[in-house]
Amino acid sequence: MTLFFVLFSSFVQASTQPLHVMIDPGHGGTDTGAVRGKAREAEIALKVGTYLKTLLEQDSNYQASLTRTTDKSLSLQERVELAEELKADLFLSIHANAASDRRARGVEFYFQNHLPADEETLFLAATENKVAKSNALENQNTQDPTKKNDVLSIVEDLKRTHRMVSSHKLSKKLLMAWEETNPEIKNNSNIIRQAPFYVVSRANMPSVLIELGFLTNPKEADRLINPEYQKEIAQKIYRGLQKYKDLMDKSNLASLN
Ligand SMILES: [Zn+2]
Repeated sequence: MTLFFVLFSSFVQASTQPLHVMIDPGHGGTDTGAVRGKAREAEIALKVGTYLKTLLEQDSNYQASLTRTTDKSLSLQERVELAEELKADLFLSIHANAASDRRARGVEFYFQNHLPADEETLFLAATENKVAKSNALENQNTQDPTKKNDVLSIVEDLKRTHRMVSSHKLSKKLLMAWEETNPEIKNNSNIIRQAPFYVVSRANMPSVLIELGFLTNPKEADRLINPEYQKEIAQKIYRGLQKYKDLMDKSNLASLN
């Protein structure tokens, strides 16, 4: 009963409180991310993130923070720690994609999958994880899961599942916001994906990584460096966050009644 209460109260957030969104513009400083011609991932992510912060600040339902406000290097661990220190409710990492096929295009949303922590460290495929790879491998041997208290493991597992479910819900709401202006992406089951990117797996709050589009697609790269389009994207993310908050407020009310 006590365990249930602890879990219940930590999951149910009072709807009167603003939703604190930690916006994480990917890369920065020496880590430029994907670069194609004039289009630099780190710069696009910072612009979109900054526009989004401005939108959220005008709405009393939200509080917004940025992991970086300038073109500076920041480790993936520092980004997550900052969000946890500030007790953010959501973590939203903003990126732009690159692919060998120039035809690849469109937005993608990633949330955590359910790999055990030790398998996560073996995930090497994604460029978004490069910076964290060596750190993760170093830390791998310092944690011994068998020493964990059983109840603690259950609580951690439930929290992790709750985070994953919430992250999936957030991804779906963001996708719905995108579909409002891009009906052609409807029914594309590949847009929401799961991957153990460091920032979405390690943050202790619901977390989604958005790949805004492909810099390797010339048309998309041109759009992504356009300030008007960057503002449009920030609007879409804001709409998605509104849909998510509505859903959370409704389910919190239902569980309190
Ligand atoms: Zn990236």
